[in-house]
Amino acid sequence: MKTESRETGRAEKSSAGSGQQESAGGLWDSVKKAAFVIGSGILFLAAFGNSLTWHLQRFWGASGDFWQKLWTQVYLLFEGHDAALFFVGTMLAPTSVFWMLNGLLLLVDTSGKPSFITRYRIQEGRNDPVDPAKLRQAVRTVLFNQVLISGPMVVLVYLLTGWTGRPCGPELPTFHRGLMELALFSMLEEILFYYSHRLFHHPSLYKHFHKQHHEWTAPIGVVSIYAHPLEHVISNMLPVVIGPVLLGSHITTTSVWYCLALVSTTISHCGYHLPFLPSPEFHDFHHLRFNQCFGVFGVLDRLHGTDSRFRQTKQYERHTLLTSLTPLTHSIPENHKKGQ
Ligand SMILES: [Zn+2]
Ligand SMILES: [Zn+2]
Repeated sequence: MKTESRETGRAEKSSAGSGQQESAGGLWDSVKKAAFVIGSGILFLAAFGNSLTWHLQRFWGASGDFWQKLWTQVYLLFEGHDAALFFVGTMLAPTSVFWMLNGLLLLVDTSGKPSFITRYRIQEGRNDPVDPAKLRQAVRTVLFNQVLISGPMVVLVYLLTGWTGRPCGPELPTFHRGLMELALFSMLEEILFYYSHRLFHHPSLYKHFHKQHHEWTAPIGVVSIYAHPLEHVISNMLPVVIGPVLLGSHITTTSVWYCLALVSTTISHCGYHLPFLPSPEFHDFHHLRFNQCFGVFGVLDRLHGTDSRFRQTKQYERHTLLTSLTPLTHSIPENHKKGQ
């Protein structure tokens, strides 16, 4: 690992020396990319929210402010039991979403089937199928982190959010307020995850804490929460929970945000670059090479030059939204060199 960190140092120095002009243009490029990812995610949510409302109203005869009515029902169901409501929204719901998605992915990882999914594998020949003993150990750690680390942390978050807002209040936030908060949470996550993650790559911290997460050089979905407990608190939980605490967000916004964060990290680790889903190439490359691509959206990696080697790879060429059914390992094969 020491060699890796020395290499990081060299890569950073050489990229810093390779010209400020290029990095300024590159930075703007990746800010635009991040804005595009966050913006299109929010547009998708807005469109999804609107069309879901429309269908519910059209087919189930709901009328008026459908979401507020639905929330009032939930609110009355839990009346006076805010802590229970908070637990369901910020622990039970996101954890269920995580396991439903990862349950499906695990079926593919353990069986190596169906081929219409496995053909999108990023690191060909790896986890085909996944090693059962290694997987059991990962799942045990994930469950430990969820129950014994995330659980108590959600209690703490509940107490803190009680000071900054009224998370279980009877009134839903407006749709626009919710979307603005989600955009802000994403930015906070990028900043806090990038710097805490880089800190964990410092040689003195790496071997004690972060090395565990990197045992998987070809990650799978559940590996997203396979980490040392301290890393789970600082790098996985803190960057995600801090936004709603600071803004005193409503539990519905927080719940949606936690679910999105868990789905997004699962996709980043899943090992398959599937059509019409965000590209997992960036973080997959981080697991493969250790010293590149530390952030979530890549904005801070561009700023600090920690994506300089990634940008010279096939994986970078494939790091786009796949809009056809042809796997990127076929359309941009390994032996095909750009500019040759
Ligand atoms: Zn990872
Ligand atoms: Zn790392």
